[in-house]
Amino acid sequence: MKKEKIWLSPPHMGGNELKYIQNAFDTNWISQYGANIDEFENSLETYLGNNSYVTALSSGTAAIHLALRLLNVEEGDFVICQSFTFVATANPILYLKAIPVFVDSESQTWNMCPDALEEAIKYCIQQGKKPKAIITVSLYGMPFKVDEILRISKEYEIPIVEDSAEALGSKYKGQPCGTFGDISVISFNGNKIITTGGGGILISRNASVKSRALFLATQAKDKEEFYSHSEIGYNYRIDNIAAGIGRGQLETLEEKITQRRKNHDFYQGMVKNSDHIELFSAPNSDFFSNYWLNTIVLKNNYSKEKLRSKFSQNNIETRYLWKPMHLQPLYKGYLFFGNNLCGTLFEAGLCLPSGTNLTDESRARISEVLENEIH
Ligand SMILES: *Cc1c(COP(=O)(O)O)cnc(C)c1O
Repeated sequence: MKKEKIWLSPPHMGGNELKYIQNAFDTNWISQYGANIDEFENSLETYLGNNSYVTALSSGTAAIHLALRLLNVEEGDFVICQSFTFVATANPILYLKAIPVFVDSESQTWNMCPDALEEAIKYCIQQGKKPKAIITVSLYGMPFKVDEILRISKEYEIPIVEDSAEALGSKYKGQPCGTFGDISVISFNGNKIITTGGGGILISRNASVKSRALFLATQAKDKEEFYSHSEIGYNYRIDNIAAGIGRGQLETLEEKITQRRKNHDFYQGMVKNSDHIELFSAPNSDFFSNYWLNTIVLKNNYSKEKLRSKFSQNNIETRYLWKPMHLQPLYKGYLFFGNNLCGTLFEAGLCLPSGTNLTDESRARISEVLENEIH
């Protein structure tokens, strides 16, 4: 008999989600208004602190798109973007017909390399166009080098869009991810640490940006009794049912962070004496990762595909790391700054099952495959 599938990062319901969905039905607020939306936003504002204004949206991708709109990114503008990421980070640049400029990662956090960033900025300025925004990512939940990147952002006066889609619960020097950007983004897609089914938030630093975000997310209706529109808007607001799921999920966030970090300890124990496998971990105590996904790098020409297929034969899902944007057919021909560290990581890396509902039995099955392969 085939063993039950172990997924990479499946949804994990907390218990109260159905209660909040029921509230939405009971009050007949099932669309883009309602108490779940208000409560979800308020709770996130409290959780994030640091003067955060939260706008709940239909996806993280929508939030990144709106963030760039709010920063007045237009056709032909340069937008700097971490290359090592999921495609949703970069696509909104093309939605706006702007020009992505990709930047490599550094080896400690796998996120944006400050030196390559500065090189990219200087190049753009030489071309006569200062970049309109820098999109940072906290990949797999690991915070980027916040101090270094923010210093560059300040020096050149280029705003940061912080894509912390994967990093709810992560912190840098004790401050939550999602509070570092001029505008920040978190995703609640089904595979993320908590989910709304589909959804995301845009986090801004003042009330006027929030109200403009809300305006653009709800079709940009002018303040008239009739339907009058002076600029282009979107249908990007979250609904009260999804927000109900989010409310229930948020109550279990601390638990889920603990569980993900326990998964990391488990893998650490597994591979600590291996010559072939290195587990990606925080470089020092400034970086607190939610370890959304645990990732390994295989050494000595050990094949990631061989290991992936061993797992797959045992009905265990693993995945390659994100394929960098500068290596994607979609982004062929766009500029890239750096030494292709992210390409090297992609060649050698694998994501391992990291769900918060990973059982001891699942861990034992994963151990068995790893043991056989490593030693
Ligand atoms: C998931 C994710 C997104 C997109 O979020 P959605 O809610 O799925 O649209 C963007 N960036 C990164 C890095 C992600 O992992």
